[in-house]
Amino acid sequence: MLPTPLAAELTEPAVQAGAPAVARGPWRLIGDAVLGTEPRQRVWLRRTLLSGLMYLLFNLLRWAGAVHGLVPWRSAQVVAAYEITGFLALYAVLRSGRTRHLRDPALTLLQILLGLSALVLNYAFVEASRNVALPLLSLVLVFGMYRLTPGQILLAGGATVVMLLAMLLVMWRVHEPGFDVAEQSLNVVLAAVTLPMFAMVARRLAQMRQRNVRQKADMAEAIEQLHHLATRDGLTGLVNRRHMMAQLADEQLRLARSQRACCVALLDIDHFKRVNDTHGHQMGDSVLIGFARQVVEVLPGPDAVCRWGGEEFLVLMPEMAQAEARAAIERLLRRIDIALPAHADGSPWRVTLSAGLAEVRAGETLQRAIERADAALYRAKQAGRDRLELAT
Ligand code: GH3
Ligand code: MG
Ligand code: MG
Repeated sequence: MLPTPLAAELTEPAVQAGAPAVARGPWRLIGDAVLGTEPRQRVWLRRTLLSGLMYLLFNLLRWAGAVHGLVPWRSAQVVAAYEITGFLALYAVLRSGRTRHLRDPALTLLQILLGLSALVLNYAFVEASRNVALPLLSLVLVFGMYRLTPGQILLAGGATVVMLLAMLLVMWRVHEPGFDVAEQSLNVVLAAVTLPMFAMVARRLAQMRQRNVRQKADMAEAIEQLHHLATRDGLTGLVNRRHMMAQLADEQLRLARSQRACCVALLDIDHFKRVNDTHGHQMGDSVLIGFARQVVEVLPGPDAVCRWGGEEFLVLMPEMAQAEARAAIERLLRRIDIALPAHADGSPWRVTLSAGLAEVRAGETLQRAIERADAALYRAKQAGRDRLELAT
C-alpha cells in the first residue's frame, strides 16, 4: 500500500521524471524563477498560482463592486488583505522548498482551508456575495476530493462548519452593519447541516480515487512479477530459454543492420549427474544456483546468460570478438568454485565445466553459430572436460 501523499501525487500526470521542464529562452528563466526547477515543486506552485488567479479575480470583482458602491471599501480591503497575505505566505513557503519532506508537501490541506476561510470572510463582509459564498464552500470541498485524503476532507468540512459558527458569533458580537444575525443564522445552520454531507460524498470519492491509485500500483507490480516469471528460470533466476530466443531474434536483426562482432558460448557442467547421484537432487539444485551466480559475476551482465537446458547454459556476447569472449570464458573456468563434500576416497570434489565458443560469421545466423558452439562443446567433453574449445 502506498503512503497517502505519494498516492495523491501518483494521480498527477504532470509529475513525470525527466519530462522537459519548460520552453527555452527568457520564458524558461522566468519560469524557473517563479516555479523553481524541481518537477514536483513546479506542479504544486503552478496549482498555487492558479488559485492565486482565482483570488485575483475575486479581488477585481470586489474592487469593481466597491467602485460602484455595492461593496463597502473597508470590507473589500479586509478580505483582500486576508486572501493576498494567505496566498503569498503559501506561495513563499512552497517556493522555499521547505515542505518537501512533509506528509502533505503541496500544502494542499492549507490551500483548501485558505479558500474555504476566504469564502467565509466573503460571506461575512461582502453582502453582495452572500448568495454565492455558501454554495461555493461545497464546491471547494468537492474539488478537494481530487487532492485531499479522505480524512483531510472530513477535517476541511468540519473546519468549515466551525469557521461558519465562529463567524456568526463574531458578527453577532460586533454588530456588523448589514448583517442580519437572525436571518444568517438560518443560512449558516442549513450550511452546517449540508456541508458534512458534501464532505461525506467527497470523502467517499476520495477513497475510491485512492483505491484506484493503489490498484494501479498493485497492477504494475503484478505485471512486473509476471514479466519476471515469464522471462526467468525459476531455479537459477537466469534468463529462460524462451526469453533468450527473443533476445537472439533481436540480436539477429541488429547483426543484419551492422557489421559488429558477436559471440555465443554453450557451457555445460561436467559430470553433473554424479552430483545428483552422490549427494541427491537438492544438492544438485544448489550447485546449479551457485553456478548461475558465479557465471553472471564473470560474464557480461545477467541478461546475457540463459539456462538453455538442465545443466547447460547459453551465453550471448554482443559486441564481443572471439579473443575477448575467449578470455571471459577462460576466466570463468578458473573462477568456478562450488563447495561440495569430498569424494569417497577423500579427494576434493571440484565442480568444473566445459564450454564451446563460436564467433558469429558475416552472413551467418545465430542459430548456426550456436550449432557450431555446440559441436565445440562436444569436442571439449571428448577431450577430457574442464576446458574451452573454439568452434571451427
Ligand atoms: P557431462 O559431463 O557429459 O555433461 O555429464 P553430465 O552428467 O553433466 O550430463 P548428463 O547429460 O548425463 O546429465 C545431466 C543431468 O542433469 C541429468 C539430470 O538429471 C540433471 N539435471 C537436469 N536438470 C536438473 C535440475 O534442475 N536439477 C538437478 N538437480 N538436476 C538436473
Ligand atoms: Mg553436463
Ligand atoms: Mg548437458
